[in-house]
Amino acid sequence: MLAAGITDRLPNIPGVRDWWGTGVLHCPFCHGWEVRDEPWAYVAPAESAVERATLFSGWAKSLTYLTNGGPRPTADQVKWLKDHQVAVREEKIAGLDGKNGRLDTVMFDGGQPLAVRAVFVHPEPIQRSELPKKLGCKVLTEGRQAGIVETDAFGATSVPGVYVIGDASSTGMMNVTGAVSDGSMVGGAVQHALVKEDVEQS
Ligand SMILES: Cc1cc2nc3c(=O)[nH]c(=O)nc-3n(C[C@H](O)[C@H](O)[C@H](O)COP(=O)(O)OP(=O)(O)OC[C@H]3O[C@@H](n4cnc5c(N)ncnc54)[C@H](O)[C@@H]3O)c2cc1C
Repeated sequence: MLAAGITDRLPNIPGVRDWWGTGVLHCPFCHGWEVRDEPWAYVAPAESAVERATLFSGWAKSLTYLTNGGPRPTADQVKWLKDHQVAVREEKIAGLDGKNGRLDTVMFDGGQPLAVRAVFVHPEPIQRSELPKKLGCKVLTEGRQAGIVETDAFGATSVPGVYVIGDASSTGMMNVTGAVSDGSMVGGAVQHALVKEDVEQS
């Protein structure tokens, strides 16, 4: 049973690494309360701009979608964002600034700076350990779970006898309670599988 976690590969944007975990965040359920009712911004590919805005709605005083100079959202996406009071900034991000550990500004290559308290990004999950790959476990390659080991509801991977839990697996939510719950449930499933094997062979 592997529980080696993941590493977050952050988008290559000036200032993101410096503010990661304080002003640059990934999960409203982990961090949203501390920055509630403040101005938020988020960086995402155009195709997930609406989905991410939906996830963030209701938390912030204002919400701004940052394309970071990437592909423009379609006219339908722009209309949806406008109808839901989500502003759009299309300039490339030049940096992030703040005082006393509190993020307060996004700076752009041209254009006025934007006042923010939090910028949300969607890091790419990278397996912390090579073991799942070395053992031949199937790793998801597409969608929001790309980089995660494919597991069933009980943590079983594509390789018989190898189970993965926590952030590294596709079974539950990527948070502490999810990882703890996986450990308890999959631990039981592994023990059951071992006993079953013994019983069947005796
Ligand atoms: C900035 C940030 C904030 C977060 N805030 C929250 C929050 O507020 N609430 C919440 O619920 N979740 C939060 N999370 C998510 C939470 O941290 C993870 O979901 C959780 O830690 C996953 O647990 P895990 O056991 O799967 O992996 P991890 O916690 O990553 O643990 C894996 C462990 O395995 C070790 N390891 C790796 N390879 C090997 C090896 N080969 N041999 C031995 N050991 C190895 C690693 O060193 C590590 O200690 C946050 C995450 C981030 C990045």
